Amino acid sequence: MADTRQVMSAAIRAAAEVVIAHAEELTALDRAIGDGDHGINMKRGAEAVLATLDDIVAKPPGEALKAAGMTLVMKIGGASGPLYGSLLMGMGKAWTDGLAESFAAGVAAVKARGKSDRGQKTMLDVLIPVLEAWQAAPNDAHDLPARLAAIAESAMAATRDMRAERGRAYFLGERSIGHIDPGARSSCLMIQAVCAVLGDPS
Ligand code: ADP
Ligand code: MG
Repeated sequence: MADTRQVMSAAIRAAAEVVIAHAEELTALDRAIGDGDHGINMKRGAEAVLATLDDIVAKPPGEALKAAGMTLVMKIGGASGPLYGSLLMGMGKAWTDGLAESFAAGVAAVKARGKSDRGQKTMLDVLIPVLEAWQAAPNDAHDLPARLAAIAESAMAATRDMRAERGRAYFLGERSIGHIDPGARSSCLMIQAVCAVLGDPS
């Protein structure tokens, strides 16, 4: 699967499909510390991306990411739409700098949009550790997708013990402790889905 367009199409499809498959789980997590719509929000965005995937990936890769990000901004209600939209649009703008640099730009865009950083029990508590592990990895690390998928999993699990300082969960204070952050879970799922595509040499 050497062709960039094919890989991007497969990666976006995999990320969208995993979100749809886990929509109820995401909503249940958000019911515990939010307003119970994260799965519904994400599913709506994922379905909109899948419906226009052929048009999206017909564009050059950077433009395709921007288009997918715009779709998320328009279709996902709530905090996560603009945040995931910023991630993809930030990645699209920096696409020609390289894959890791593109992801770094996307994560920086999420931070700027959310006025947030790691340690606040959000999607950034998955995105940032994955980015840092990626940046620290040797360029030729053949097991990189598997390693990043594992880091996403442990980083997601670590949000359980955090106290929320952003988003709706912030209003729960101490009571936000003991639950995995819904956005950390959706980030983990999508990163693992993309890593599975990137790690598949076929
Ligand atoms: P809403 O909170 O508006 O109902 P969602 O339920 O779709 O939106 O998304 C909630 C998720 O968004 C949280 O679990 C968290 O990961 C993420 N989030 C919320 N606010 C921020 C922020 N300021 N920075 C980063 N992520 C955030
Ligand atoms: Mg919500």
